[in-house]
Order: sequence, then C-alpha cells, then structure tokens
Amino acid sequence: MNNKAIILYSGGLDSLLALHIALRLGLEVSALFIETPFYKKDAKTLQDDLEKLHVKLYIAEISDTYLGILKNPTYGFGKNLNPCLDCRIMMFDEAKKLMEKIGAYFIITGEVLSQRPFSQRNKANILLIEKKSQLENLVLRPLSAKLLPPTLPELKGIVDRNKLYAISGRSRKPQLALAKLFNIEHFETPSGGCLLTEPYFANRLKNFLDLDLLEHYKLAHVGRHFKINDNLLIVARQQNEFDIIANYKNMFDFFETKDSPGTCAIFLKKSTQNEKILASKIVLRYSKKAKSVLCFSNGNYQLFEDLEPIEENKLMELRVEA
Ligand code: SF4
Repeated sequence: MNNKAIILYSGGLDSLLALHIALRLGLEVSALFIETPFYKKDAKTLQDDLEKLHVKLYIAEISDTYLGILKNPTYGFGKNLNPCLDCRIMMFDEAKKLMEKIGAYFIITGEVLSQRPFSQRNKANILLIEKKSQLENLVLRPLSAKLLPPTLPELKGIVDRNKLYAISGRSRKPQLALAKLFNIEHFETPSGGCLLTEPYFANRLKNFLDLDLLEHYKLAHVGRHFKINDNLLIVARQQNEFDIIANYKNMFDFFETKDSPGTCAIFLKKSTQNEKILASKIVLRYSKKAKSVLCFSNGNYQLFEDLEPIEENKLMELRVEA
C-alpha cells in the first residue's frame, strides 16, 4: 500500500482535472495514454503538458487487441460503433498491468458519473468495469468520488475524501469552474476524440466489419465508398487520396483512367468480371473526359473501353454514404 497511482490520461479536460486533483492530494502519479486506432489524439502532444507537471507518461499501443474487441464486443455497441464497456475494461486491464509493473497501488480516472450514455451511464456499469478488470475499490474517480462508494485509498487514509468532488451529468460547468480554480487555461474543447462515436465514420467502418475487412481499417478514412455485392470499392476524391489508393495497386484490383486524367479506385476483395465493369463505370463517372479504364489485377491488366459512366440512381444505390 502506497500513494503511487496510475492515471488513465486522454488529454481531455476531465482527465486533466483528475490529474490536478491527484497532484494536489500529494499523490505520486504516472500517466497512461492508451493509443487505439480510432482515437484522434497523438500521444506525443501530451508529453509537453505532462512534463510541466513532472508527471511521467506511459503509452500503451493496443491496436490489435482493439480490433479483436470491435469484431465481437461482449457488451455490444453504443449508439454508433463504440464498444465502450469492452473498451474501458481493456483500458483498465492495461492500467492494471502497468500498475503491477511499476508498483503503483491504485488507478485514477477522469470519469464523470452519468456523463456518457454508455460506458459511464450509471454506477452499475462503472462497478462492472472495475469488477471485470479485477480492480474493485482500486479506481479513484476524483470528479465523481463523493457519489460513489469509498475506494481503498480513501478508506486507508491515502486520499482525503473531503477533497474529492461530486460532479455528475453532461453539463461542463462544474469542470470549467474547477479549471478556473486550478488556473488551467489551456484545455481541449469536448469534441469526443473517438471516431467510433461519429456516425459518418462509424457507418463507413461498419462495412469493413460486416465484410470482414477490418484489417484494412486505415482505408475507412479514404475516398468514396461503394458496396458492391460483398465487396467494397474505394474511389479517390482528390490527389492525396489518389496517391494513397495508388499505393495499394499491387495488393488489390486497381482501376485508373487510361486516356485522360481522372480518378482511381480499388476493390478490397478479389473482384468478378461484372464487378470490374461496374467499378470502371464508377471511375468514369468521376473522371470528366476519360473513355477507358485500365484494371490491374494479380500482375495482369485489362482494358475496359467504350463504357458509359454509371447512371446516377444506380450510383447512389451503391454509395455507402450520401
Ligand atoms: S468513446 Fe471510444 S475510446 Fe471512449 S470508451 Fe467508448 S469506444 Fe472507448
């Protein structure tokens, strides 16, 4: 038993406040940032802020584990493609590993009761996550602690419960007031950070999941997407996407205009002849003057000539998002 703790740190205001409270309590805190494939923050941007507070930063990169969870989350998804309960359990597991490695006694988070609709919805979920990670009574949530049962660090007198808070709900006012009290001037606006909670991105990624293409998740950001049978066609919208997609030329069936400048596309699965024709028509639709399309597949190429661009109504039927 000691006053060493790991804070699950995202760089958002809530975890920053939790960190400030912990430091004011005289705790010896190290920060853990969990890097997932769908979180928009670069861990390196946190380093400077934490150095100023003399807090060591650890980074856990968990992409493979995360993709596994996304394929089959035990507790299902939230409103979009966010498997929050499973995700939090996994984060706590990582924190526990680090806790044991560096001899820390407990974990701190910036969680606020009833703030989020899924993982932090109620005490029951919060306590479930703790239980599944075998961290019962060892997770201190300074912002909402007074609304939750006392943790072991509080019961053992390491943390003064009187100096903790009773914040709950979605309003940010209490946190902004605390930030002012602690003289915290620079912090992020609450934009979420997790792409899986954004409907546009979640809708695109869902096709990767359904079509067993999750290993190519990095392409979920790129291009216009068309679902054709059980295949996914990605068409470049602009030059930088053309360059990204062209990098996959030897990996997937690749299409580009032959006679005039235009766009390019890839199928993420091996395509049939009919699918190749359809892809060529879509490429022509987005390439103003071109009349023919080259398809590179498996070291060979095929020329599609005298095709008309696909009709608009058919195009819209295949498009993943409007
Ligand atoms: S919002 Fe995203 S990062 Fe946060 S718990 Fe849910 S799935 Fe995980």
